[in-house]
Amino acid sequence: MESFKILGICEPVLRSIKDEKFESPSEIQEKSIPLIIAGKDIIAGSATGSGKTLAFASGILKNAEKGRGIQALVLTPTRELAEQVAQALTKFSKYKPLEIIAVYGGVGINPQIRGLRTADVVVGTPGRLLDHIARNTLRLGKVKTLVLDEADRMFDMGFKDDVEKIIRKCPDERQTLLFSATITKEVVLLSKRYMQKPLQVSVDSFVDPKKLIQTYYDVADEQKFSLLLHLLKNENSDLVMVFCNTKRNTDKVTKNLVFSGIDALAIHGGLTQYKRNDVMQRFHTGKFCVLVCTDVAARGLDIRGVSHVYNYDIPRESKQYIHRIGRTARAGAQGKAINILSRADYDNFGRVLKENDVEIAKESLPAFEKAAIRKPERRPTRPIRKAQPHNRNRWR
Ligand code: AMP
Repeated sequence: MESFKILGICEPVLRSIKDEKFESPSEIQEKSIPLIIAGKDIIAGSATGSGKTLAFASGILKNAEKGRGIQALVLTPTRELAEQVAQALTKFSKYKPLEIIAVYGGVGINPQIRGLRTADVVVGTPGRLLDHIARNTLRLGKVKTLVLDEADRMFDMGFKDDVEKIIRKCPDERQTLLFSATITKEVVLLSKRYMQKPLQVSVDSFVDPKKLIQTYYDVADEQKFSLLLHLLKNENSDLVMVFCNTKRNTDKVTKNLVFSGIDALAIHGGLTQYKRNDVMQRFHTGKFCVLVCTDVAARGLDIRGVSHVYNYDIPRESKQYIHRIGRTARAGAQGKAINILSRADYDNFGRVLKENDVEIAKESLPAFEKAAIRKPERRPTRPIRKAQPHNRNRWR
């Protein structure tokens, strides 16, 4: 605990860290917490899984007091990340109870309006936050700590203007903490406009490259699913994530895995928020072990115990590959990233190799059985109705 204490973390948070059984601070925590506690603005270049949540939590929890209005605001790009950050903050505030609320779209607004009346800390996505600001149900005049989490991702998702509108609603006198996997031009511009002499801190992700094995198989398109099934059945794995590029493929792969006896569920942006939360909750608690997902749904999520990441489709954007493999080999654990590619993936795979510093070893194909694949359900054809004689008095 001493190694956390010397960073300046307050007593109640130290007690919660002890409960979490963290042994020593991660690199980002070591470098940024003393600055955050000293009230500095910081730009932290840190990928998901670096331990950044505790870094900004230590600042928020030191300064916030119960019942004094919204004193901290955390902006996140996705709903899942908002939920995850709110849960982490709740854990770290166990011995300094504060009202922490997550607000995001896709779910009812009324419970959020009620929650915001007494909230001390708000975590949310830009769209819904602006909605609350417009309704006057979110007042930011008392914010002391503003956190922009995964700022590059928020820009990628087109939230730049929304983020700026929200920043402008916060008092000028505040501390701003910006976290971003990559420090892009836009990030630098934003920091110049809205931050006070920000200090830059950079670290690698928590993912240990020595503990991550990356391989690929080259198969014919029609063998992809059979190989995936074979590997899922034969690899010794814990929790598994299978990435696809489209919602359609995600659903198709999930259906066929379930049909073949694998305990799989899908998560993608086409599901309602309630369904997405439910799927994530069940995966977190190990109620099923194969999560088939798109990038949007999985980005930034911290799921412990993911031993294998499969790329059933190779991502179109090469940096997405890094985000995907970052789901495994976290916090010192072993992990494996397996790419299953066929001809349609060659271009994307070429980009991944060219634009990232990664070593991916080719595996020879094992002997595997051809899996039964379900034909996509055909929509029932509508019976052809006989044309009815037009009734001019119908609406009278
Ligand atoms: P984050 O990057 O904040 O999402 O954290 C990634 C994961 O690392 C979470 O499961 C944290 O609970 C965990 N974690 C954060 N700090 C530490 C630490 N110092 N030691 C061990 N695990 C940690």
